[in-house]
This record gives sequence, structure tokens and C-alpha cells, in this order.
Amino acid sequence: MSMKPEIPVSHPRRASLELREKLVHALDKNVAAKAGLIAHGRGEAFDYLLGEATSPPAVRAAEAAAALLLSAQKPVISVNGNVAALCPDEIVALSRAVSAPLEVNLFYHRSEREQAIAEELLAHGADRVLGVGDAASATVPGLESARTRVDPEGLYGADVVFLALEDGDRTEWLVKTGKKVIAVDLNPFSRTAQFAHVTIVDNLSRALPLIIARTKALANREASSLSKVVKSYDNKKVLGEAIRLMYRRLKRLARQGVFVEVPHTGDAQHN
Ligand code: ATP
Ligand code: MG
Repeated sequence: MSMKPEIPVSHPRRASLELREKLVHALDKNVAAKAGLIAHGRGEAFDYLLGEATSPPAVRAAEAAAALLLSAQKPVISVNGNVAALCPDEIVALSRAVSAPLEVNLFYHRSEREQAIAEELLAHGADRVLGVGDAASATVPGLESARTRVDPEGLYGADVVFLALEDGDRTEWLVKTGKKVIAVDLNPFSRTAQFAHVTIVDNLSRALPLIIARTKALANREASSLSKVVKSYDNKKVLGEAIRLMYRRLKRLARQGVFVEVPHTGDAQHN
């Protein structure tokens, strides 16, 4: 299970290549699933459209997410294989910053993978991980039974759920059960992005540090001030801005045509 040789520091897409390496490594450890690799590739494509940078609408959504998490009665952070593979330190830090437990929440329950994900989170400093094996003993109806088992101490009674890279069916189900859902998803057209109450269209690896920073900035605010942030937030508008940002960027790049320069290295044929 050796990691590939170091990616050069100067590589223009170093951050993206490092995430890929993390996922491949996580697949070996049974933390990530094969389907997770496909989901990641889909995310990368949208990240290219965004210019692999955090956008102003993502910053606004992160602010609303922080306020919603801080004002929740029973917030829960849902973790799947890709989240544990890509950002274990940051997801544990978010859980601390907003006092929300981490719950393993997989597309299909598989106890070896739940265990592997929980171990990864514990190794990165989590005190406790919900939803593993028999702990996911409660059922919230709405999807076929194998996919609706949740932890009675966690998702079952949660009022606010933070999730990332989640399937649309499951997000729809959580929304239908009356929970407020915060989603990180690079694809603003995905059903998860559309169903969530607060959608952060950004790479999870950039979004998490941003959300953590906003929770720290808002930590001492009064409840009324937090609720003002949440109430004035309009997810439809913010999603529209994320889509507009992509098409404006595409329009500019389409005009430009070629925008990646091949560095001139040689003295060979030319001059
Ligand atoms: P949906 O089920 O919501 O309609 P989908 O079937 O295309 O969408 P899933 O595989 O169910 O997608 O969920 C994965 C989602 O996570 C995708 O929308 C993908 O763009 C997004 N994604 C993948 N990698 C990242 C990442 N690193 N950061 C943020 N989002 C990501
Ligand atoms: Mg899906």
C-alpha cells in the first residue's frame, strides 16, 4: 500500500492530484468504495468549470451553514467513505467546532466499511462515531429499509444535518423527514444540491476549512443574530449564482480558446 511518488510542489493541479491519491489509498483501506471514485471524478469535472477555487456564492452558503449549525438543537454530521478519505481532520474539527456528533451514513450499510470509516475518524481525533453496526438501530421510513437505518442518538432525532457528496435520493429523504440539510456538492445540478436547504458548491477540501472558520467567527453571536443570517439566506439565488459563475467563466474561456501554455523547454528545432 505504498503511496505514489511525491507530486511536484510546482504542479498546477497538485491539490487535485493529492485528493485523488487520498481516495485511492482509502480504497485500499476499505474506507472508500469503488462507486466513490466515480462520484469523485464527477466532482472533479465540475471543479474544473469553477476554476478549482472557492466562489462568492460558496462563501455566502458557508456563512449560512455555520449559522444554521450553531443555532441547531441537535445537529449531526453525516460521514461517508469519500468524506472520511478526503478530509478526516477537517470533519472532526467541524464536529468539535459546532458540538455535532459524527455519524457514519453509507448508501448501503456494510459493517466492515462502517467500521473502517469509524476507525479512520477515531485515528484523526474523533471521540466517538455514531451509526456503526448495531448502533444504527432506528428506522426512518421513506426509502427501502436497508438505506433508512440511522442511529437513535444521531440522525434519528437530528434537526440539522450536514452532509457532503451525498446521493440525491438520500438527501430528498432526509429533507422529507423534516430535517434542515446542509450539503457540500460541486455539482449545482445534482439532486442533492437542489434538495438541500443550504448548498455549498465547492470542493469539500476547500469548503470545510471555510465553514470551520465561519463557525469560529460566529460562535459568540446571539441566537437572534444567527437566526437573522439563516432567514436572510436564499439557496435558490445562491445556486443560481454558482451556475451563472460557471457559464460566465466558460464564455470567457470559449472566447479565449487556448488558455494552457506549453512551457518552451528546448533549444532543439527552433530559432
Ligand atoms: P444526485 O444523486 O445528487 O443526483 P449524482 O448521482 O451525480 O447526484 P452522487 O454520486 O450520488 O452524485 O453524489 C456525489 C456528488 O458529490 C456529485 O454531485 C459530485 O459532483 C459531488 N462531489 C464529488 N467529489 C466532490 C468533492 N471533492 N467535493 C464536493 N463535491 C464532490
Ligand atoms: Mg446519485
